[in-house]
Amino acid sequence: MGGDLEEWCPSLGSFDIQVHPNPLHHHGSFHWADDPDATLGSRYFEVRDGKIISVVQRPQDGAIFKEPMIDYGEAVIMPGLVDVHAHLDEPGRAEWEGFATGTRAAAAGGITTLIDMPLNSFPTTTTEEALQLKVEAAQAKIYVDVGFWGGLVPENAFNATALDGLLKAGVLGLKSFMCPSGIADFPMTNTSHIKEALPILARYRRPLLVHAEIQPDQSESGSEKRPQHNMDDPRSYSTYLKTRPPSWEEAAIRELSMVAEDTRENGLAQGGHLHIVHLSDARVSLDIIKEAKRNGASLTVETCPHYLAFAAEEIQSGDTRFKCAPPIREEANRKILWEALKEGHIDMLSSDHSPSVPELKLLDEGDFLRAWGGISSLQFVLPATWSYGREHGIALDQLASWWSTRPAKLAGQEFKGAIAKGNDADIVVWDPDIDFTLDENYNIYHKHPVTPYMGKQMHGKVLATFVRGNLVYREGEHAPAACGIPILAK
Ligand SMILES: [Zn+2]
Repeated sequence: MGGDLEEWCPSLGSFDIQVHPNPLHHHGSFHWADDPDATLGSRYFEVRDGKIISVVQRPQDGAIFKEPMIDYGEAVIMPGLVDVHAHLDEPGRAEWEGFATGTRAAAAGGITTLIDMPLNSFPTTTTEEALQLKVEAAQAKIYVDVGFWGGLVPENAFNATALDGLLKAGVLGLKSFMCPSGIADFPMTNTSHIKEALPILARYRRPLLVHAEIQPDQSESGSEKRPQHNMDDPRSYSTYLKTRPPSWEEAAIRELSMVAEDTRENGLAQGGHLHIVHLSDARVSLDIIKEAKRNGASLTVETCPHYLAFAAEEIQSGDTRFKCAPPIREEANRKILWEALKEGHIDMLSSDHSPSVPELKLLDEGDFLRAWGGISSLQFVLPATWSYGREHGIALDQLASWWSTRPAKLAGQEFKGAIAKGNDADIVVWDPDIDFTLDENYNIYHKHPVTPYMGKQMHGKVLATFVRGNLVYREGEHAPAACGIPILAK
């Protein structure tokens, strides 16, 4: 890579990057969006003004590279990760995370774009004005590029003017819940709300993301079912697991699959798209999704590293760091999730980074039923996916597809998600063979170091992260200025 290495953002450098993928690291082809058949060997690409302006096999293929070049040797160079599901909680709950700490963690984890969820901040992003507050709160604080999902709630679902306003203001799509969200000012939607909003979203060609769980005896209380017998110990993970069975996901996904018919050719919402967030149930729910896709619905689904890394059986009593919704299920389910991901039935991955202040995790009491349901993991999603995925024989190009190409497409980011001529130079350089143990001495950039990955041995270390050609992170060091930009849909 050429240029002044100390040329941190916000100044834009002109960099030439020389790539030497190490054959030992490759289970398949390296991921080049414009050259999918490229296999092993060096590639070079040149970055100018934040864009990739050429990708060639050898410098003499036409590009004139400036000296000196950085040779990243045997490290892997991939498109930066695009995380379509993160809660940064600002404005309003910056004590939970915040744009500065969240995006510093993202940069250290190789994430170059993240899309912020519309809830857990205050106000929730359900109006044009609230989006404006989000953008103002993010300005000058973000180390990576940040886009925003808006919220679909009963209050705006039947109000086409309000939805138009929110979409015109630049949210990349909408998100809704089919069960209580746990946040009072983000009430749940039902199928009729979703059906109503989908044709509006279709006009903008933006997706609707849905938290797909339906509680059989729906109530807006937001509280989870208490155990039926006094014998059920709230400190026991199995008690919590029983309160959110796979049938909740099934019920929601069954309804969504019917709504998704509207997105088919000549449907009421043709051009629209439904995306199911954080799938946990790998059985009936997944079968319904497969069937809907086969029938031509425009439907995608994500899962998260914590569903792929952990199993219910290993979660210790009282260890509420593992609490999320839908819950982490049994080992047998985890195995099927991996298969579905590898076979392409699950389209992509996301962090669902959903931190809170540590007190709300009730770590001392260990009460799974009352603790905040959300897992904190943003900085570790790349090593987590790789560490657990290696056992399942995953390849680097799959990682790039699950973490960059497909999420970029979902978020409508046509110039992100791949190393290709004309794209933003959003790049992660990492070494899959460096091991580390995540312990108290490790630099965790989240606001709170509470994470279920604590104590785990991980493979894969991020060496450098570039956002639009700017070096924003290099081995334990961040750029002095936050040079990410808010992404607004036009
Ligand atoms: Zn979430």
